[in-house]
Amino acid sequence: MKPHVSDAIILRHSDYGDADRIVIFYARDLGLLKGFARNARSSRRRFGAALEPFAQVRVHWIAPRGEGLASLREVELEDLRAGLRARLDALALAAYGCELVEELFGDGAPHPEVFDLLGAFLDAMAHGDGEGLPGIRLLLEMRLLRAAGYVPHLLHCSECGDAAAEAEVAFSAARGGRLCARCASGRAGLWLSPLTLGTLARCLKTADVLFSGFRFGAQTLLEGQAVLRDALALHLSRPLRSQAFLERFSVGHEPGKGG
Ligand SMILES: [Zn+2]
Repeated sequence: MKPHVSDAIILRHSDYGDADRIVIFYARDLGLLKGFARNARSSRRRFGAALEPFAQVRVHWIAPRGEGLASLREVELEDLRAGLRARLDALALAAYGCELVEELFGDGAPHPEVFDLLGAFLDAMAHGDGEGLPGIRLLLEMRLLRAAGYVPHLLHCSECGDAAAEAEVAFSAARGGRLCARCASGRAGLWLSPLTLGTLARCLKTADVLFSGFRFGAQTLLEGQAVLRDALALHLSRPLRSQAFLERFSVGHEPGKGG
């Protein structure tokens, strides 16, 4: 049987038995796939470093019969993205980005734009002269929300449409996004500057693969992070495994408080 060849990004892997490995990868042409790499651990020559998380690869694989795993025949390493492995905070963000993609786009449908976005996000950290990590995270989260069709209302009240420039507006993802003071009537947990929401909206006017040339202020990063946490939580069925570790490096985190 002739193998199918996919450009892919390795999201993660886990050990299986004594010698094998199960690999979760995101293919540009087919979306999220699970593969079985026989003898990946017993023979380093077989796949080398090509199964490492965040690597850009070309996977030669045989489709499963029915519900099983794809069988990985050969994996060509194109870019290990070694640069991001030197920093714990970049590794934490990379793992979080991959888990977000797996959760939001694990439906078996292809999303080539998500593949391109994820690759550019990982490149920004591996080869990066772009934004700092909080800015890279904000851009990724906004763009993934859009790709999933979940962008909340940012520029006007989601309930009455009011777009007046108040000093502070409320935000509640569960109620659709931005809320004016009258509609929020004290019940929304998050209050912030409408300028932050304007900046988030402007992020979506830039190319998905662009991660440099932005300059986010400290208030935008702090408030933007809270908005995105609320907006993403609405669409995730469970807390992400990678999130607790990532939050240790987040803007506004107080050392020693855990989480
Ligand atoms: Zn309103």
